[in-house]
Amino acid sequence: MEWYHTLIVVLVIVAIVVLIIYWFFKSNITPSRTGLLSENIVCIKNSIVNVYMYSKGSDRLVIDAGFSAKALKKELLKMGIIPEETTDVFLTHTDPDHIGGLSIFNKAKIYVGEDSRVKNQCNFSFLSDNDIIMIGEIKVQAISTPGHRPGHTCYLIDDKALFTGDLLRLKSGEIKPFFKRISRDSDELIESIKKVAKIENVKTLLTAHTGYTTEFDKLIEKWK
Ligand SMILES: [Zn+2]
Repeated sequence: MEWYHTLIVVLVIVAIVVLIIYWFFKSNITPSRTGLLSENIVCIKNSIVNVYMYSKGSDRLVIDAGFSAKALKKELLKMGIIPEETTDVFLTHTDPDHIGGLSIFNKAKIYVGEDSRVKNQCNFSFLSDNDIIMIGEIKVQAISTPGHRPGHTCYLIDDKALFTGDLLRLKSGEIKPFFKRISRDSDELIESIKKVAKIENVKTLLTAHTGYTTEFDKLIEKWK
């Protein structure tokens, strides 16, 4: 085979792989657009992931810190949010797409599940299952949900908004486990979904990569 025949074959294979990856992302990674979701919740789109801000009066907190600091800061400013004024950031876990923008919250206290892998421990406050933290008038309950990563933690805020990070995904009107192939322990992941299925009165369920739903009760039924 001539060298350029080999080159064409390689280029075709590369193009097919790129198309498959593009198709996978397009059909499975569906973060919400930046905007106000309810009177308490602002959603920020940062590349393939959503960051959320929850506020009540002058109290506010951020859930996860996205992929890119520069892009995240730009989106926050668009919504009138000054990142340096954020006092508390709750991380669901410490993968790069959830901590990439942490540097812009340079005055904030950072909370994370106690079994999470973190590089510089002194910057973090570690939370155990069912810990309750009050940020002014906002009640935050940590729910330990390992599986995707050790220490992965969901946050139930004011007993009604459940922020689930990479525990599960919303697809075709169903709740599915987060991608098992890129999760550490898929059995544990399933157990963690069954655990959150027991929570009552959730009004909004929010994911990191596949948007949110106000139909938690209906969608979670099959996990009970
Ligand atoms: Zn993620």
